[in-house]
Amino acid sequence: KQFCRRFDECGESGRKLQQGLLNLLNMLMKSTSELLAEDQWVGAQINKLRETISGPLDLQVIEQAEQYLEEITQRQEIIRRNLSEAKLTLKKMVTSLITNIEELSDTTGGYQEKLEQYSEIISKTDDIKELNQLLVQIMEETKQMQKSALNYRNDFLAARAEVSLAQDKINQLETELQEMGEKVHEDHLTGILNRRGLDTAFERETSRSTRHETSLCFALLDIDNFKLLNDTHGHKVGDDALVYLVESVKDTTRPEDVVSRYGGEEFVILLPNTSLEEATQILSRIRRNLTKKFFLHENKRLLITFSAGIAQLQAGESQESVFKRADEALYRAKKGGKNQIIIAD
Ligand code: GH3
Ligand code: MG
Ligand code: MG
Repeated sequence: KQFCRRFDECGESGRKLQQGLLNLLNMLMKSTSELLAEDQWVGAQINKLRETISGPLDLQVIEQAEQYLEEITQRQEIIRRNLSEAKLTLKKMVTSLITNIEELSDTTGGYQEKLEQYSEIISKTDDIKELNQLLVQIMEETKQMQKSALNYRNDFLAARAEVSLAQDKINQLETELQEMGEKVHEDHLTGILNRRGLDTAFERETSRSTRHETSLCFALLDIDNFKLLNDTHGHKVGDDALVYLVESVKDTTRPEDVVSRYGGEEFVILLPNTSLEEATQILSRIRRNLTKKFFLHENKRLLITFSAGIAQLQAGESQESVFKRADEALYRAKKGGKNQIIIAD
């Protein structure tokens, strides 16, 4: 951030320097993601980071990039620690297997040598007594040999079981890591997308709507008098109300609509393939459904309402810009007495 400020103070040369540094960072990111080709989660984070810094730079972008980098570092630390543990186990297993194999071949080598010696003696003697003695000795050697082979076999089986356990652990760690990566996009309380999840969905939906030349609407919802609900009934009831609202919104919207928690008691719904008129109808339906049912707390029926601003995305419009327009409409809905939906200019 300090760098960024200093660059701004330097004027044109500062901007060139900034661009140069950015190019370097991009190269670094590219080589890192190639190095980590096997790790999907880290690869995805790095791609997001690269996307973030590919646009115009400002303090917010840098902060976002910093956050991504920090997450990558933290997750990598977890992977590194756990994987090196698992690798160490595997390494120990392999070492002990090799030792066992070496010992086993020593033993079988000795056994073979002895057999050769015995067969030589056998070929040279005709003495039944001696032959009988030799047979007893051979049988004894064979018994010993079988015994140690059996021991090694058990060692092998135990080692194989341990290797398979270590492999399972690695698989489990990888799945956990994958899930963690997905959780980064999720709101803990309601399970819907959080602001970061919305960023990804927004990009996906805008490019889709551009590609198919379809209308995309952006709705911003804010619960009315939520502070009062919290103050009157407590934070836990407030939390339950948020979950209740989300369930109700999900029941009323279509599967392709993107419902996300923008923060606190504010929600953003992306409505793909939807005109402004249809978007208003969908929002009105949500509003009606919400007021038809009551949110129950200790058998008290609490009415939850929201105000909303809806904007239709214009060609090439940024998320920041469409949010601003929806927010202005929302502001007018609040000013106009709440529990209403206003279309943005
Ligand atoms: P308005 O009708 O103008 O929107 O008023 P409001 O009271 O809804 O809005 P305000 O911004 O004054 O208050 C929002 C409140 O939402 C304050 C904050 O404590 C509460 N809040 C934010 N996040 C959560 C949450 O996760 N759980 C709970 N229970 N409350 C939250
Ligand atoms: Mg609010
Ligand atoms: Mg509110």
